[in-house]
Amino acid sequence: MSEPTATPSNFIRDIILDDLKTNKYEGRVHTRFPPEPNGYLHVGHAKSICINFGLAAEFGGLCNLRFDDTNPEKEDTEYVESIIEDVKWLGGNFGDRLYYASDYFGQIYDWALQLIRAGKAYVCDLTGDQVRAQRGTTTEPGQNSPYRDRSVEENLDLFQRMKNGEFPDGSRTLRAKIDMASSNFNLRDPILYRILHAEHHRTGKEWCIYPMYDFAHGQCDSIERITHSICTLEFEDHRPLYDWFLDQLGIYHPQQIEFDRLNLTYTMMSKRRLLKLVQDGHVTDWDDPRMPTISGMRRRGYTPEGLRNFAARQGVSKTPGITELSQLEYFIREDLNRRALRVMGVLRPLKLVIDNYPDDLVEQMQAVNNPEDPGDGTRDVPFSKVLYIEQDDFREDPPKQFYRLSPGREVRLRYGYFVTCTSVVKNDAGEVIEVHCTYDPATRGGDSPDGRKVKSTIHWVSAAHAIDAEVRLYETLFTKEDPNDVEEGQEFTVNLNPKSLEVVPGKIEPSVKDAPALTRYQFERLGYFCVDKDSTADRIVFNRTVTLKDAWAKIEKKSK
Ligand code: ATP
Ligand code: MG
Repeated sequence: MSEPTATPSNFIRDIILDDLKTNKYEGRVHTRFPPEPNGYLHVGHAKSICINFGLAAEFGGLCNLRFDDTNPEKEDTEYVESIIEDVKWLGGNFGDRLYYASDYFGQIYDWALQLIRAGKAYVCDLTGDQVRAQRGTTTEPGQNSPYRDRSVEENLDLFQRMKNGEFPDGSRTLRAKIDMASSNFNLRDPILYRILHAEHHRTGKEWCIYPMYDFAHGQCDSIERITHSICTLEFEDHRPLYDWFLDQLGIYHPQQIEFDRLNLTYTMMSKRRLLKLVQDGHVTDWDDPRMPTISGMRRRGYTPEGLRNFAARQGVSKTPGITELSQLEYFIREDLNRRALRVMGVLRPLKLVIDNYPDDLVEQMQAVNNPEDPGDGTRDVPFSKVLYIEQDDFREDPPKQFYRLSPGREVRLRYGYFVTCTSVVKNDAGEVIEVHCTYDPATRGGDSPDGRKVKSTIHWVSAAHAIDAEVRLYETLFTKEDPNDVEEGQEFTVNLNPKSLEVVPGKIEPSVKDAPALTRYQFERLGYFCVDKDSTADRIVFNRTVTLKDAWAKIEKKSK
C-alpha cells in the first residue's frame, strides 16, 4: 500500500509478530492476493487486498498478485486485465510479481505423478454424479471407489492418456487416496484433475486436463514461498487437505490463516450473481456505478484512499459478520470532504428572477474551491439577473421550521447577494414555475453590512451560463439488507431496487466544463459527484457518489 494505515491490531498481525520473534521464516513476510479471473473484483476483495498488501508493507515484506486460473471455462483475459487495474488503483504494489497458477501447470502435473507413484492417487472412472453419490453424509462414511486399488502402473498409464487427450470430458478423474471415512469431506478422496477439452486464456490448447483449485492453490503458495497464506473462512475445512498435499509431496509449507469475509448490507458479494446481473442487463456492465465492484465504485467517484480507510477498519476475525453500508459511505464522504472541489449545481431547477438587477449585467463572484484546503484557491462564478435555484429551496406556503426562500422571506444566495421573494409565477396546473425577488446591492458576496441576519443560505447557478448536465442519482441496488434473502423458488433478482437509478437534467456552474471523466466535486449542499465516462463534448454526465447528510430531510420526516 502506498499509504499503510494505522489500524487496530488483529490476530493475523499477532501471528506474524510471533513468527518474526521465533524467526520462523528467517524474518520473511511474503503474502499474496490470489483471485480467480472469473469476474471483476468487488469491495470484499478490497478487504483481502488491504490485508495482504498492507501486512507485507508494514513488515517490509512482499505481496504477490497471483491468478488462480484453473477454470478455463469461466475465465477470461478481460477479467485478468480489470483485476490488475483494480489492484493497482487500490495501491497494491506487486512490483514484477505477477503470477499465474497456469504457469505452474507443468510442475503441478509432475506432483500428481509423484502422488500416483507413491500410491496416493488413482485414476477413477466414476462419473461426477457417481462420485457425489458415494461421498457419504455427515453421519455415514463414503464408499471406496471400485477403481481405488488400481496399480501404480495402470494409474500412470491412464493419467498420461488423460493428458494426451484420449478420453472425453468427464469420463475419468484423478483422485487422491486419503480416507473415505474422514469426518472432513474434503479428505474423502477429493478429485485432483478432471478432463476438460477447453481452451485456456493463457495456455491455449496445451492442456486438456486441469488441476482442481484445491490441488493448485496450496502448491502455488508453496512455489512462491509464501509465508502467510491468508484466505477467507470457507477455506478452513480445506486446510487439512492442503497440508496433506504439502506433506505428501514434501515441499515448502506456508501457514494458512483464515479470516472472516466482508459482508455489506444491501450488497451482493458473489461474483457468480454479479455476472448474472451483467448478463441479464440489470446493470449496464461490471463497472455500472451501482455495482459493488471496485471498477463500479471507481466510476462512481469513490477514492482509493476512502476505500482503503474503510477496508482497514474492518475487523479481522474468525466470526462472520455484516457491516452497514453507511459505514462505507462514511469513509468515502470523509475522504471526499478533504479533496473534492466545491461547485454549485442545481438538480431540480426553479427559475429565480431578480427584478431590480440590471438586465445585461454579469458579475463574477469569488467562490472558495475547498474550505478544507486553502491551497485549492478560489474561482469566479458568474452571477446575473436570471438564476436557477433548487425547487426544494422554495415553498410558497412554508411549514414551520422551513427557513429557505418563501414569499416575503430574505435569504442569502451563496457568494452572491441577499434576495427577498416578492412574487411567483404559476403554470396552469398551479405549480410555481418562476420566483421573483429583489436584491440588496449592499450585500455583494453574501455579506450583510448592517449585521442583518438571514436564516438560510442557498445555492444557485446563472441561467445563461449554466451547463446542462445529465445527473445520475443512485440508491442501493437491492431493497433488502440481505439481497440473498428470498422466498423458496424465487431468484435473488426479486430484491433488485427498481429505483436504484434516477436521471435528472441538472444545471451546473460553468467551471465544470470540459472536466475529464473521474473528476470529483462536491455540489454544495447536495453531495459528492463525479464526471462519468459517458460525457461527450456537448453533454456532461455526473454520477452522484454519495449524498451529504441532509438535516432538513430528517426534520420533514419527523413532522409527518
Ligand atoms: P466469490 O465467492 O464472490 O466468487 P471468491 O472468493 O471466489 O469470490 P476469489 O477470486 O477466489 O473470489 O477471491 C480472491 C481472494 O479474495 C480470496 O483470497 C478470497 O478469500 C478473497 N475474498 C473474496 N471475497 C471476499 C470478501 N467478501 N471479503 C474478504 N475477502 C474476500
Ligand atoms: Mg474463491
